[in-house]
Amino acid sequence: MSRERILLHICCGPCAVHPLRSLLEQGYEVVGLFDNPNIHPLREYVRRREGAEQVAEKLGVKLVCKDEEYDPGRYLREVVHREPSRCFYCYRLRLERTLSIARRGGFDWFSSTLLSSKRQKHEQIAELANALAGGGAPGFFYQDFRPGQNEGQEACREWGVYRQQYCGCIYSEWERYRKELRKT
Ligand code: SF4
Repeated sequence: MSRERILLHICCGPCAVHPLRSLLEQGYEVVGLFDNPNIHPLREYVRRREGAEQVAEKLGVKLVCKDEEYDPGRYLREVVHREPSRCFYCYRLRLERTLSIARRGGFDWFSSTLLSSKRQKHEQIAELANALAGGGAPGFFYQDFRPGQNEGQEACREWGVYRQQYCGCIYSEWERYRKELRKT
């Protein structure tokens, strides 16, 4: 009997470890998708993409990288003038693309490693993905991967995989480092 197939959107290496291990243990055939136009700047995007590639290789999973679609404008057009709700539009952008690719590829399920982060709006991601799936195929595969977040951090420390210091977008970088700005 052929295994059910999941297209898993991957945001970074550390967040990918536990979901990949868990889905493989459950017997799914998993393909990873790295499509994150929210990440700023480009060099940070490349470091995270390389981290995701290292993790995928360690766990024997194929990873599709959408470097040719890395366009910061794609993200900014979604969020400018609605910055207070930007995470919702950022999730939607990435989940919609994952669903679209999963549909074209005939996958049974789609999901995201965003569900493994304690810093993300977990319920909002799950509700949004369910709404996008609309009860059709592929279905949204929900699992609370958050209990495995530390496992991912530890594995990446051991493997020398890049671990980022901010969520990803230009706004989150500013929030993370703005204390370094001088007061006049
Ligand atoms: S803080 Fe993170 S989830 Fe929110 S918009 Fe920025 S990159 Fe996306």
